[in-house]
Amino acid sequence: SASADAPRATGAALQPDRAAVPAPLTLRGIRKTFGSLTALDGVDLDIPRGRTTVLLGPSGSGKSTLLRCINLLERPDAGELDFGDGPIPVGGRMSDRTVRRVREHSTMVFQQFNLFPHLTALGNVTLAPVEQRRIPRAQAEASARELLAKVGLADKADAYPGNLSGGQQQRVAIARALAMEPDVLLFDEPTSALDPELAAEVVAVLADLAAENRTLVVVTHSLSFARRVADRVVFLEDGRIVQDGTPEEFFTSEDPRLRRFRDVVEA
Ligand code: ADP
Ligand code: MG
Repeated sequence: SASADAPRATGAALQPDRAAVPAPLTLRGIRKTFGSLTALDGVDLDIPRGRTTVLLGPSGSGKSTLLRCINLLERPDAGELDFGDGPIPVGGRMSDRTVRRVREHSTMVFQQFNLFPHLTALGNVTLAPVEQRRIPRAQAEASARELLAKVGLADKADAYPGNLSGGQQQRVAIARALAMEPDVLLFDEPTSALDPELAAEVVAVLADLAAENRTLVVVTHSLSFARRVADRVVFLEDGRIVQDGTPEEFFTSEDPRLRRFRDVVEA
């Protein structure tokens, strides 16, 4: 998180200030119902580029649904997404092309890793680049090995998920997401299926990604993660955003809903 008056690299100094701040991912009026239940009640949110946004909120507040709406794993009932190339209505019918266009922008990392059990770590990381992005296999494997090294698994390329710890599996899943080179990485409780020690390995990888100024959106119950890694905290309740600000603002807010949540989670 560079401050505005920090010394600039020579190349950046040639750019006007505004050009250095890319357009955020913008969500407008995202609404999602399941039968009579309103899971998201018209959410407006700007997700800053190059920053880590942490989504917090009680169970059932709509965090997963919101992440899933960003890459259309759930189809919103109404709303628009804008990845910086113009607003895309995502409420009604969408052409397959529009759906693909939206999905190319983001990749999700799930709580339960969702690796293919019959493929090695390398096979998991190369599958989509080869099949979907049509990257030549040799090139995809070379980048996959780099990504596995980046998440601390250089020596596990040939291991199957069943022979990896949960923390290792989740790091393979992160390498797999990175291989898609998405603008935005979405994480839905990436450490909550893991013992604390294994969770710490995954948090270290996430902290590295955050330090590289990638655009991350992370749903978590971990206040220590939010404290350590978040640039911004968004608090949801009943499908609405209750608070959107700095971690400092979240941790010091006297709003009874936030206080209650902090007390329960920290207990
Ligand atoms: P969170 O991730 O914050 O715990 P969710 O986004 O999973 O919350 O869920 C928000 C609300 O929507 C909850 O009441 C949940 O029961 C409901 N919900 C989520 N997914 C479905 C679904 N596929 N079918 C029916 N209800 C759902
Ligand atoms: Mg959830």
